[in-house]
Amino acid sequence: MRNRVIAGNWKMNKTLAEAEAFMESVVNDIRLDQHTEAIVCAPFPYLSNMVQIAENSGIKVAAQTMHEEASGAFTGEVSPIMLRDIGVSHVIIGHSERREYFNETDETVNKKVIAAFDHGLAPIVCVGETLAQREANDTNKVVGHQVEQALRGLSRDQVGKTIIAYEPIWAIGTGKTASSEQANEVCAFIRETVARLTTDETAEKVVIQYGGSVKPGNIKELLTQRDIDGALVGGASLEASSFLQLVEAGLQHE
Ligand code: 13P
Repeated sequence: MRNRVIAGNWKMNKTLAEAEAFMESVVNDIRLDQHTEAIVCAPFPYLSNMVQIAENSGIKVAAQTMHEEASGAFTGEVSPIMLRDIGVSHVIIGHSERREYFNETDETVNKKVIAAFDHGLAPIVCVGETLAQREANDTNKVVGHQVEQALRGLSRDQVGKTIIAYEPIWAIGTGKTASSEQANEVCAFIRETVARLTTDETAEKVVIQYGGSVKPGNIKELLTQRDIDGALVGGASLEASSFLQLVEAGLQHE
Protein backbone atom coordinates (compact mmCIF):
# COMPACT_ATOMS: atom_id res chain seq x y z
CA MET A 1 0.00 0.00 0.00
CA ARG A 2 1.35 3.42 -0.96
CA ASN A 3 1.23 6.24 1.57
CA ARG A 4 -1.17 9.11 1.12
CA VAL A 5 0.73 12.36 1.02
CA ILE A 6 -1.15 15.62 1.54
CA ALA A 7 1.01 18.69 1.05
CA GLY A 8 0.10 22.35 1.47
CA ASN A 9 2.05 24.77 -0.70
CA TRP A 10 1.67 28.23 0.78
CA LYS A 11 3.54 29.86 -2.11
CA MET A 12 4.48 33.48 -1.25
CA ASN A 13 1.95 34.01 1.53
CA LYS A 14 1.74 34.66 5.29
CA THR A 15 3.61 36.72 7.87
CA LEU A 16 5.72 34.94 10.47
CA ALA A 17 2.98 35.37 13.08
CA GLU A 18 0.43 33.82 10.70
CA ALA A 19 2.75 30.97 9.83
CA GLU A 20 3.36 30.19 13.52
CA ALA A 21 -0.32 30.39 14.41
CA PHE A 22 -1.13 28.00 11.55
CA MET A 23 1.47 25.45 12.60
CA GLU A 24 0.56 25.60 16.28
CA SER A 25 -3.07 25.03 15.50
CA VAL A 26 -2.34 22.16 13.10
CA VAL A 27 0.09 20.49 15.53
CA ASN A 28 -2.62 20.55 18.22
CA ASP A 29 -5.43 19.19 16.11
CA ILE A 30 -3.92 16.93 13.46
CA ARG A 31 -4.75 13.25 13.30
CA LEU A 32 -2.42 11.08 11.21
CA ASP A 33 -2.25 7.34 10.68
CA GLN A 34 0.77 5.32 9.69
CA HIS A 35 -0.03 5.51 5.99
CA THR A 36 -0.80 9.22 5.79
CA GLU A 37 1.75 12.01 5.62
CA ALA A 38 1.14 15.74 6.00
CA ILE A 39 3.65 18.23 4.62
CA VAL A 40 3.71 22.01 4.94
CA CYS A 41 5.68 23.81 2.21
CA ALA A 42 6.52 27.19 3.71
CA PRO A 43 8.53 30.19 2.48
CA PHE A 44 12.27 30.07 3.31
CA PRO A 45 12.30 32.62 6.18
CA TYR A 46 9.80 30.54 8.20
CA LEU A 47 11.17 27.04 7.63
CA SER A 48 13.29 26.86 10.76
CA ASN A 49 10.43 28.00 13.01
CA MET A 50 8.04 25.60 11.26
CA VAL A 51 10.39 22.67 11.85
CA GLN A 52 10.67 23.55 15.54
CA ILE A 53 6.92 23.88 16.07
CA ALA A 54 6.24 20.67 14.11
CA GLU A 55 8.76 18.61 16.07
CA ASN A 56 7.33 15.24 17.19
CA SER A 57 3.95 16.00 15.57
CA GLY A 58 4.55 13.83 12.50
CA ILE A 59 4.06 16.89 10.27
CA LYS A 60 6.87 17.34 7.78
CA VAL A 61 8.21 20.64 6.52
CA ALA A 62 9.21 21.32 2.92
CA ALA A 63 10.85 24.13 0.98
CA GLN A 64 9.20 25.37 -2.21
CA THR A 65 12.40 25.31 -4.26
CA MET A 66 16.18 25.25 -3.81
CA HIS A 67 19.41 25.67 -5.75
CA GLU A 68 21.13 22.58 -7.12
CA GLU A 69 24.62 23.40 -5.84
CA ALA A 70 25.71 22.56 -2.30
CA SER A 71 27.32 25.97 -1.72
CA GLY A 72 29.04 28.78 -3.60
CA ALA A 73 28.72 32.21 -5.15
CA PHE A 74 24.98 32.17 -5.92
CA THR A 75 23.71 35.33 -4.25
CA GLY A 76 20.20 34.98 -2.92
CA GLU A 77 19.97 31.21 -3.35
CA VAL A 78 19.35 28.48 -0.78
CA SER A 79 21.17 25.18 -0.95
CA PRO A 80 20.05 21.63 -0.15
CA ILE A 81 22.62 21.46 2.64
CA MET A 82 21.07 24.48 4.33
CA LEU A 83 17.61 22.96 4.13
CA ARG A 84 18.77 19.64 5.53
CA ASP A 85 20.71 21.44 8.26
CA ILE A 86 17.57 23.09 9.64
CA GLY A 87 15.51 19.89 9.56
CA VAL A 88 13.54 20.29 6.32
CA SER A 89 12.65 16.86 4.88
CA HIS A 90 11.09 17.60 1.46
CA VAL A 91 11.47 20.12 -1.33
CA ILE A 92 9.18 21.03 -4.22
CA ILE A 93 11.09 20.99 -7.49
CA GLY A 94 9.96 22.42 -10.81
CA HIS A 95 6.64 23.92 -9.78
CA SER A 96 5.03 25.40 -12.91
CA GLU A 97 5.37 28.87 -11.37
CA ARG A 98 9.14 28.30 -11.07
CA ARG A 99 9.25 27.03 -14.64
CA GLU A 100 7.22 29.98 -15.93
CA TYR A 101 8.60 32.93 -13.92
CA PHE A 102 12.09 31.79 -12.91
CA ASN A 103 13.31 30.00 -16.01
CA GLU A 104 13.46 26.53 -14.54
CA THR A 105 13.89 23.98 -17.26
CA ASP A 106 13.73 20.19 -17.41
CA GLU A 107 17.51 20.26 -17.14
CA THR A 108 17.64 22.34 -13.94
CA VAL A 109 14.77 20.29 -12.52
CA ASN A 110 16.82 17.13 -13.08
CA LYS A 111 19.90 18.67 -11.42
CA LYS A 112 17.83 19.74 -8.42
CA VAL A 113 16.20 16.32 -8.05
CA ILE A 114 19.63 14.68 -8.05
CA ALA A 115 20.93 17.27 -5.55
CA ALA A 116 17.93 16.69 -3.29
CA PHE A 117 18.73 12.96 -3.07
CA ASP A 118 22.44 13.64 -2.65
CA HIS A 119 21.66 15.67 0.45
CA GLY A 120 18.90 13.57 2.00
CA LEU A 121 15.87 15.58 0.90
CA ALA A 122 12.81 13.98 -0.70
CA PRO A 123 11.81 15.79 -3.90
CA ILE A 124 8.22 16.57 -4.87
CA VAL A 125 8.57 16.99 -8.63
CA CYS A 126 5.85 18.98 -10.37
CA VAL A 127 4.76 18.27 -13.93
CA GLY A 128 1.76 19.40 -15.93
CA GLU A 129 0.51 20.75 -19.23
CA THR A 130 -0.91 24.13 -20.25
CA LEU A 131 -4.46 24.48 -21.54
CA ALA A 132 -3.16 24.91 -25.11
CA GLN A 133 -1.15 21.70 -24.82
CA ARG A 134 -4.18 19.81 -23.49
CA GLU A 135 -6.36 21.15 -26.28
CA ALA A 136 -3.76 20.07 -28.84
CA ASN A 137 -3.87 16.55 -27.32
CA ASP A 138 -0.27 16.90 -26.23
CA THR A 139 -0.80 16.22 -22.51
CA ASN A 140 0.88 12.81 -22.45
CA LYS A 141 3.72 13.93 -24.67
CA VAL A 142 4.45 16.97 -22.47
CA VAL A 143 4.02 15.24 -19.12
CA GLY A 144 5.86 12.10 -20.25
CA HIS A 145 8.81 14.20 -21.36
CA GLN A 146 8.89 16.18 -18.09
CA VAL A 147 8.83 12.95 -16.04
CA GLU A 148 11.51 11.30 -18.14
CA GLN A 149 13.82 14.32 -17.91
CA ALA A 150 13.26 14.87 -14.18
CA LEU A 151 14.19 11.28 -13.31
CA ARG A 152 17.26 11.01 -15.54
CA GLY A 153 20.25 9.46 -13.78
CA LEU A 154 18.39 8.40 -10.64
CA SER A 155 18.70 4.89 -9.22
CA ARG A 156 15.55 2.76 -9.09
CA ASP A 157 15.51 3.18 -5.35
CA GLN A 158 15.57 6.98 -5.73
CA VAL A 159 12.84 6.91 -8.36
CA GLY A 160 10.72 4.87 -5.94
CA LYS A 161 11.17 7.57 -3.31
CA THR A 162 10.32 10.49 -5.61
CA ILE A 163 6.95 12.13 -5.16
CA ILE A 164 5.50 13.29 -8.48
CA ALA A 165 2.82 15.99 -8.44
CA TYR A 166 0.65 16.20 -11.53
CA GLU A 167 -0.50 19.81 -11.65
CA PRO A 168 -2.23 20.79 -14.89
CA ILE A 169 -1.41 24.48 -15.25
CA TRP A 170 -4.95 25.35 -16.32
CA ALA A 171 -6.25 24.04 -12.98
CA ILE A 172 -3.88 25.97 -10.70
CA GLY A 173 -5.55 28.80 -8.81
CA THR A 174 -8.36 28.93 -11.36
CA GLY A 175 -11.04 27.04 -9.47
CA LYS A 176 -11.12 24.60 -12.41
CA THR A 177 -10.23 21.19 -11.03
CA ALA A 178 -9.52 18.42 -13.46
CA SER A 179 -12.29 15.84 -13.05
CA SER A 180 -11.08 12.93 -10.94
CA GLU A 181 -11.10 10.71 -14.05
CA GLN A 182 -9.11 13.26 -16.07
CA ALA A 183 -6.61 13.59 -13.22
CA ASN A 184 -6.33 9.84 -12.76
CA GLU A 185 -5.81 9.24 -16.46
CA VAL A 186 -2.66 11.39 -16.43
CA CYS A 187 -1.48 10.04 -13.05
CA ALA A 188 -1.85 6.49 -14.46
CA PHE A 189 0.10 7.55 -17.53
CA ILE A 190 2.84 8.94 -15.26
CA ARG A 191 3.01 5.60 -13.44
CA GLU A 192 3.26 3.77 -16.80
CA THR A 193 6.06 6.13 -17.80
CA VAL A 194 7.93 5.39 -14.57
CA ALA A 195 7.41 1.65 -15.17
CA ARG A 196 8.82 1.98 -18.68
CA LEU A 197 11.87 3.83 -17.33
CA THR A 198 12.42 1.45 -14.39
CA THR A 199 10.29 -1.53 -13.36
CA ASP A 200 6.62 -2.17 -12.54
CA GLU A 201 7.64 -2.69 -8.94
CA THR A 202 9.33 0.72 -8.73
CA ALA A 203 6.36 2.41 -10.43
CA GLU A 204 3.99 0.88 -7.88
CA LYS A 205 5.99 2.57 -5.10
CA VAL A 206 5.95 6.08 -6.52
CA VAL A 207 3.57 8.45 -4.78
CA ILE A 208 1.70 10.55 -7.36
CA GLN A 209 -0.20 13.60 -6.20
CA TYR A 210 -2.76 15.67 -8.04
CA GLY A 211 -2.68 19.45 -7.65
CA GLY A 212 -4.87 22.24 -9.02
CA SER A 213 -7.82 23.76 -7.13
CA VAL A 214 -8.00 20.90 -4.63
CA LYS A 215 -10.31 21.74 -1.72
CA PRO A 216 -11.91 19.92 1.22
CA GLY A 217 -14.99 19.52 -0.99
CA ASN A 218 -13.32 17.66 -3.87
CA ILE A 219 -10.32 15.86 -2.35
CA LYS A 220 -12.16 12.69 -1.32
CA GLU A 221 -13.39 12.04 -4.84
CA LEU A 222 -9.88 12.60 -6.22
CA LEU A 223 -8.39 10.20 -3.68
CA THR A 224 -10.80 7.42 -4.65
CA GLN A 225 -8.85 7.12 -7.92
CA ARG A 226 -6.34 4.30 -8.17
CA ASP A 227 -3.34 6.30 -9.24
CA ILE A 228 -3.89 9.45 -7.15
CA ASP A 229 -2.03 9.03 -3.87
CA GLY A 230 -2.34 12.50 -2.46
CA ALA A 231 -2.65 16.17 -3.20
CA LEU A 232 -0.48 19.26 -3.52
CA VAL A 233 -2.72 22.11 -2.46
CA GLY A 234 -2.23 25.85 -2.78
CA GLY A 235 -5.09 28.18 -1.83
CA ALA A 236 -7.02 25.69 0.31
CA SER A 237 -3.95 24.90 2.42
CA LEU A 238 -3.59 28.42 3.80
CA GLU A 239 -6.15 28.10 6.60
CA ALA A 240 -5.38 25.60 9.34
CA SER A 241 -8.97 24.31 9.47
CA SER A 242 -9.03 23.68 5.73
CA PHE A 243 -5.59 22.00 5.76
CA LEU A 244 -6.75 19.75 8.61
CA GLN A 245 -9.84 18.74 6.62
CA LEU A 246 -7.64 17.88 3.63
CA VAL A 247 -5.40 15.67 5.77
CA GLU A 248 -8.41 14.07 7.43
CA ALA A 249 -9.71 13.15 3.96
CA GLY A 250 -6.42 11.35 3.33
CA LEU A 251 -6.72 9.01 6.32
CA GLN A 252 -6.94 5.53 4.88
CA HIS A 253 -9.03 3.81 7.52
CA GLU A 254 -12.16 5.57 6.30
P1 13P B 1 -4.21 25.83 -6.01
O1 13P B 1 -4.58 24.70 -5.06
O2 13P B 1 -4.35 27.18 -5.37
O3 13P B 1 -4.91 25.69 -7.33
O4 13P B 1 -2.65 25.67 -6.30
C1 13P B 1 -2.16 24.44 -6.73
C2 13P B 1 -0.69 24.47 -6.68
O5 13P B 1 -0.04 25.10 -7.50
C3 13P B 1 -0.03 23.75 -5.57
O6 13P B 1 1.33 23.66 -5.77
